[in-house]
Amino acid sequence: MAARPARRDRAQRGGAPMSRILVVEDETAIAELVAINLRHAGHEVTLAADAAQAQAAVDGILPDLVVLDWMLPGESGLAMARRWRGQARTRDLPVIMLTARAEEADRVAGLDAGADDYLVKPFSVNELLARIRAVLRRMAPEALDAAVEVGALKLDPSTRRVMRGEIEVRLGPTEFRLLHFLMTHPERVHSRAQLLDRVWGDHVFIEERTVDVHVKRLREALDRVDCARMIETVRGAGYRLTQRPTATAGDTGP
Ligand code: CA
Repeated sequence: MAARPARRDRAQRGGAPMSRILVVEDETAIAELVAINLRHAGHEVTLAADAAQAQAAVDGILPDLVVLDWMLPGESGLAMARRWRGQARTRDLPVIMLTARAEEADRVAGLDAGADDYLVKPFSVNELLARIRAVLRRMAPEALDAAVEVGALKLDPSTRRVMRGEIEVRLGPTEFRLLHFLMTHPERVHSRAQLLDRVWGDHVFIEERTVDVHVKRLREALDRVDCARMIETVRGAGYRLTQRPTATAGDTGP
């Protein structure tokens, strides 16, 4: 049974997809059904039919979440999930396992391998969509369109607006995504490589200096509402968004 969520207006969303989801499934009919429904829900979907394609996709653009079939030709989904958990870049990659296996021992093996959730075939697409939302809420809130508030700033992805009280902060699309990520992961330091992966989705073809350029633009825009100091440079480590800027770190350049 296919889910029928309302189609999102991509223009209203600034053309940005809600989240990038990689679907690894060798059964074409299931892969297509899942892909169609995820796209209707506003996600950007990449399909991979085996472990090699899946690894190539992850090496290129780190997705927000992977729907991973257990039984694949060649390397199994279980082995992939285990390998991703062992590598720094993919350690926190949210994974939902799909499988025909329903035995408790198999579910335990799937979760032990690092899957964040587990769905047994045949499954309802509505349930898969609900599980995806739940895992993203927990692990990648920047991939959802819930409004987020940090300090004086309020960001609403559904209207693509950033407000300080009654004043709107005008941002370019990249600065908006950058601020969205920082606001959904406040007080933590993010390296330039991590920001490229999570905000740009590509760690290979973009220079880390690009991050500095967009942080500078974001600070200039936030400066108009007196919030530039919320974006801190942490020397040798990266950037952090904080509610309570420190006197020394608040407005230093990269
Ligand atoms: Ca399969």
